[in-house]
Amino acid sequence: MKTFHLIAIPYRIKTFTILNPSLFILFNMTLERKKLELPQGHNKLLLHSCCAPCSGEVMETLIESEIDFSIFFYNPNIHPVKEYLIRKEENIRFAEKHNIEFIDCDYDTDNWFARAKGMENEPEKGIRCTMCFDMRFERTALYAYEHGFRLISSSLGISRWKDMQQINGCGIRAAAHYPEIEYWDYNWRKNGGAHRMIEISNREEFYQQEYCGCVYSLRDTNRWRMKNGRDRIKLGEKFYSNAMDEEH
Ligand code: SF4
Repeated sequence: MKTFHLIAIPYRIKTFTILNPSLFILFNMTLERKKLELPQGHNKLLLHSCCAPCSGEVMETLIESEIDFSIFFYNPNIHPVKEYLIRKEENIRFAEKHNIEFIDCDYDTDNWFARAKGMENEPEKGIRCTMCFDMRFERTALYAYEHGFRLISSSLGISRWKDMQQINGCGIRAAAHYPEIEYWDYNWRKNGGAHRMIEISNREEFYQQEYCGCVYSLRDTNRWRMKNGRDRIKLGEKFYSNAMDEEH
């Protein structure tokens, strides 16, 4: 089987350059957005959003595809509250800009910590994260069921820091509680989505979170940074800009 290596990706011009080393040929593939359609004839979507940087590209794709959707913000995993409010406000700002309904759900941190008990030292992508995704999807599916949505999805999977299979498993499991609800496992990273996500974050100058969200991810990221000679995270200080910092 031939191996293709990705080199020098200038995402600003939305072009991938791919080198086939055996033939020394350069191909250019333009990564324009594709117009999407909701699966199985659904006519609206409840989109769970984790933050503005992740949902920005998803929202713009849905808007360009003329898909009817609402944003569902339920993230009791984000601590401390200062960080939670900044991330939420950024998401509200972008939703208002595009006139998209923003559903602001509970910040029930007590429930989140109760479910995380015993998992405090689990690594990212482990069982604590499965619990965390399960919890957020369960509430998304419940809201969808009670408010006439029949299709749910999430912006969580667009981040390269996340395990898409783990996220989709949680989404499918939550939707399975309701025969009427379906989880849409669309891969938002595809067709340049992951690169446009950064592009939009730079353009909108979104707040740039530097850890996943919970106190344990904050603790572990800080430990890693100190081990690598870097300063601890300063909440509320870092914003995307056209300096093209892709750290998180
Ligand atoms: S690391 Fe992220 S996904 Fe995992 S439990 Fe913490 S906030 Fe949730």
